[in-house]
Amino acid sequence: MRKIDRPGPQYDVVIVGASIAGCAAAQALALADSERRRRILVIDRHRGVSPRFAGELIHPRGAQILEDLGFYGPLRAAGAVDVEGFSVLERADGRYVELAYEEIVGQRPRGLAAHHKSLVRVMRGVIAAQPQIDLCEGWVIKELQRDRQGVACGALLEGDGAEVLVRADVVIGADGKASAVRRLAGLPDERETIGFTAGLEIKDAAVRAPRFGNVVLGAWGPMLIYPITEGADGALTYRITIDLPQALPAKGARLADFLLDAYVPFLPERLAEQTAEALRGRRGAIEMAPTVNLPAPRAALPGIALIGDAAGCSHPITASGMTMGLRDAERLGEEARRRARAPRGERWLDEGSLRRYRAEHDRYVPTRQALADAIYEAFRGGNEGARAIQRALFEYWESGPSARRRSMALLSCAEGRPSVFLSEYIKTAGHALGSSIVPRHATHFPLQDRARQVRGAVSLATDKLGLVTQVMWAQIRPAWLPREA
Ligand SMILES: Cc1cc2nc3c(=O)[nH]c(=O)nc-3n(C[C@H](O)[C@H](O)[C@H](O)COP(=O)(O)OP(=O)(O)OC[C@H]3O[C@@H](n4cnc5c(N)ncnc54)[C@H](O)[C@@H]3O)c2cc1C
Repeated sequence: MRKIDRPGPQYDVVIVGASIAGCAAAQALALADSERRRRILVIDRHRGVSPRFAGELIHPRGAQILEDLGFYGPLRAAGAVDVEGFSVLERADGRYVELAYEEIVGQRPRGLAAHHKSLVRVMRGVIAAQPQIDLCEGWVIKELQRDRQGVACGALLEGDGAEVLVRADVVIGADGKASAVRRLAGLPDERETIGFTAGLEIKDAAVRAPRFGNVVLGAWGPMLIYPITEGADGALTYRITIDLPQALPAKGARLADFLLDAYVPFLPERLAEQTAEALRGRRGAIEMAPTVNLPAPRAALPGIALIGDAAGCSHPITASGMTMGLRDAERLGEEARRRARAPRGERWLDEGSLRRYRAEHDRYVPTRQALADAIYEAFRGGNEGARAIQRALFEYWESGPSARRRSMALLSCAEGRPSVFLSEYIKTAGHALGSSIVPRHATHFPLQDRARQVRGAVSLATDKLGLVTQVMWAQIRPAWLPREA
């Protein structure tokens, strides 16, 4: 067990942040280098797990990485649940669509869901058992050390009222959206808080698809209900997350009343009763987390790599943050494996490794951010354009399994090509326009409402065009073209 109280003076890699991305990266590096046994230090500000609730649903691509890295078995043993896809319900009595992971050909048919705290606790337990890894809780990074060329070569760490200077070839920032490593590396902080998510736990929630992420629309923001723990008797405990605006209409004990009035009526009857019961039981103590958008910064600088949320995050509606962090860890592991036999005295993850990591990161992250942005806009259903897109999404998904498969591949990060995102986006916008002009599901739909929806859909689509173009460019830009600083 390598859980230690104080870091040593010399490592090959220092990882700041021992949550999903940090633990996965440490394990990926350790497995890539079992022969040479280079040394990896992982620090985290919190002794034990951070008290905030956060990501819990992991797409099959991420679940596969957890399995490859040896986390999946211990997580299942701790009660994590295999999940089968997403379902979307328009409102309590509205249209309903299931998007199953198994429809995506060539990938694992199930994702994984777990209580966030249990996820992090189990992952820390796994890395603490690796002889190459030192895990040090209750420590933060204070300064980055640089050599004469300006390449990061270590860090000044602080914990237990002491400071320790640690030398290392590479510092990895896995310290989340407010990353101190990113700030110390001199990158601007472009975080924007876009709203809040309230979270509650419900036993045996009455959802249509028990092992799916069940999205319910209709209220100001989407609600998502998914299993987080499976008991030994097979009973499931669920999380319900409720998306709230940035300017909270009510706080403290009054928030429960607001949720009861403004959200609960959009849930199907039995689930509404269960949610109301949970809200009344937790009056004034509802778990809350801010939702943040952070456009992807440079993911690597000399001697530094940023991974997970530190390297960009978006609204959690697509439940892709952890899968992205796991992919970052996997990529660094591949680079570490490629350099495993580098001559002694040479850096393990050298500048070539970090450059390649950044190039790959720059290609897949913007697609995910654009997708989250587009889906969130549509699922919030706040204006005419969003309602038109929402209707079009249902019609598109009802049009056949290949439409569902394509959307799901993008949503679950199995498909990251911006060209596919663009073509899906154009199809949905086309559907939105078509169904605004000739609605399929409304018998009475006055001309002026149709005109409003057409205008709304066009303005929403053009609004997002800049973003879509940026995503396309990330994919097609020639590798030799210098990137912006
Ligand atoms: C409400 C909500 C719901 C979400 N739902 C989902 C979901 O269903 N699926 C999904 O994939 N994603 C979801 N996400 C996103 C997901 O939580 C993040 O993408 C994921 O947690 C990022 O992991 P990370 O390891 O990069 O960073 P974090 O999980 O933020 O961890 C950062 C770690 O760094 C430590 N740290 C911070 N600063 C320092 C420092 N200076 N020194 C040392 N340590 C430090 C922290 O203590 C923490 O342990 C959700 C997010 C929110 C807010």
